[in-house]
Amino acid sequence: SKVPPIILNNGVEMPQLGYGVWQVPDDEAEQAVATALEAGYRSIDTAAIYRNEKGTGKAIAASGLPREDVFVTTKLWNHDQGYDLTMRAFDASLERLGLDYVDLYLIHWPVPSKDKYIDTYKAFEKLHADGRAKAIGVSNFLPEHLRRLTAETSVVPAVNQIELHPHLQQHEARAFHGEQGIATEAWSPLGQGKGLLEVPAVVAIAQKHGRTPAQIVLRWHVQLGNIVIPKSVTPSRIRENIAVFDFSLDDEDLAAISALNEDRRIGPDPATFNLA
Ligand code: NAD
Repeated sequence: SKVPPIILNNGVEMPQLGYGVWQVPDDEAEQAVATALEAGYRSIDTAAIYRNEKGTGKAIAASGLPREDVFVTTKLWNHDQGYDLTMRAFDASLERLGLDYVDLYLIHWPVPSKDKYIDTYKAFEKLHADGRAKAIGVSNFLPEHLRRLTAETSVVPAVNQIELHPHLQQHEARAFHGEQGIATEAWSPLGQGKGLLEVPAVVAIAQKHGRTPAQIVLRWHVQLGNIVIPKSVTPSRIRENIAVFDFSLDDEDLAAISALNEDRRIGPDPATFNLA
């Protein structure tokens, strides 16, 4: 079962489900990404701060897949915000990836205390105009940051990648993105695999469909229209997590999962997160 695309606001097609490589060491990333590409993933989510762009790039090169068949996302780290630093950081990311363009480039965090995301995004607009980033967007931006960004720059972000899972459903952000034409991408879509996959309601729906809890949660995201990038380094789970396009949840299942919202973050609050 093939992964369908989401059409971004500039016409670029992004696979709705991809493979995230946070916390995969560089020397393991090559094997992990190779396994994902073999399993049918065609979208890879990395970041400069993950320090695995090299391994990721090697796996893409070794796969023999045509470049245009793989959607590559990377992200600009906080200490590189600002116009000139962004230009240099982007060159360094491309160099590590061994690519001459990325499909999607994201500002990793807004870091409002630093007040550099507007200048940073202006560099992104230049990279986009030059065709070196086919789409540009942001991550961890709150609606207030997006409002300022769209007021002061020209290219509406294609994507906002935010923490999103059944315990943190982000209703307000998703509605706002919808109004603005920004696609919502869910990070930690499985809630980092912790308690969420043992929640009785999720387990019951899994049993009903003869699927795993992870597949149920990923299918819930897909039916809501979210882009998802689950992570695993276990080959059987890598394969399991992409096998969610040959069954559907019914309204009752969707409602039971939607009832699990607790507005509870696992990760940091974007309003204050300023790690350099
Ligand atoms: P996730 O929700 O994808 O959970 C991953 C964990 O869940 C795994 O380490 C494993 O323990 C477990 N798991 C995975 N598949 C499973 C399965 N089939 N059955 C049982 N357990 C399973 O969490 P994540 O890695 O935090 O997020 C996914 C990706 O999102 C990251 O790799 C990264 O690419 C991205 N991300 C982005 C940001 C950001 O600030 N933009 C932050 C965190 C993560």
